[in-house]
Amino acid sequence: MDILYFVVPCYNEQEVLPETSKRLLAKLQSMIQAGQVSDNSRILFVDDGSKDTTWQIISDLHQQDPHYSGLKLSRNKGHQNAVLAGLSYAVKFADITISLDADLQDDIDAVDKFVEQYKQGSDVVYGVRSARTTDTAFKRSTAQSFYKILEAFGIEIVYNHADYRLMSRRAVEALMDFKEVNLFLRGIVPLIGFKSSTVQYERHERFAGTSKYPLKKMLNLAIDGVTSFSIKPIRMITAAGVGVLGVSAIIFVWMLVNAIRYGLSTVLLTLFSLWLLAGLLLVALGVVGEYVGRMYMETKARPRFFIDQTLNKE
Ligand code: UDP
Ligand code: MG
Repeated sequence: MDILYFVVPCYNEQEVLPETSKRLLAKLQSMIQAGQVSDNSRILFVDDGSKDTTWQIISDLHQQDPHYSGLKLSRNKGHQNAVLAGLSYAVKFADITISLDADLQDDIDAVDKFVEQYKQGSDVVYGVRSARTTDTAFKRSTAQSFYKILEAFGIEIVYNHADYRLMSRRAVEALMDFKEVNLFLRGIVPLIGFKSSTVQYERHERFAGTSKYPLKKMLNLAIDGVTSFSIKPIRMITAAGVGVLGVSAIIFVWMLVNAIRYGLSTVLLTLFSLWLLAGLLLVALGVVGEYVGRMYMETKARPRFFIDQTLNKE
């Protein structure tokens, strides 16, 4: 029978964990009883360096029921790394992994459909939000423009899919072969290429606590998403450079004509073009810098996480 591991990243989630754990265990137990998954299945909470009592709660849960497991990272490494750490640990035991958020925004009743798709041969099943009615208008519009921007840069992602996803053992093993430090799971998983499918679900409101994804973290994720999958921004700079050269050629001719006709008076024009070009150059430098900086990080190939403690009845 297939062993299923839920992988749940948790960062300061003491408000939601008691409820989340209850709901997940009920789900898992019903699946075990229905003969869908093995009794050796686990709910793996990954504590991403929380500063509240999250790890204490996870330890208590593990004492109460062997279906609860825990992984404690040495410090906060961010959502993507927490998921990756959980998957890399789970794959040692699990045939199926399902990653989902700790705040129950992902409808856990969709899990049955996930497993169904898996049994029909999918190695990756993407949870896709059917509606975003519960998100704030701000979250909705920023998230939507995030997908639009990625699309514009030609990056293959599954629309309205966050990291609620089933992966088979071999899909996770393939994922482990990607060694990049700047991790953007939603872009990498489609690159694995095994058979995949999608399951629609309704996204709920976070029922307690606050979002651990402020605008700054979202922006970082977006920039990571673009720069780690596309060099289009650099091409755009080249294109802009060619365009600017063309314009300056025209201005040059125009200046010559004016100089011959009326004598030279182009101070304003010079000032304007000076600022314009300096601005363009700085932006260009910044974009190139983003890539150079990322290459710098990647060449160091620093470890993405360290596991401090594990709690698991194997
Ligand atoms: N998370 C994490 N590390 C972080 C930030 C968030 O493990 O540095 C987890 C968090 O506990 C939650 C999931 O990532 O389980 C998604 O975060 P959140 O619900 O705050 O994001 P939102 O739904 O608001 O985008
Ligand atoms: Mg959330």
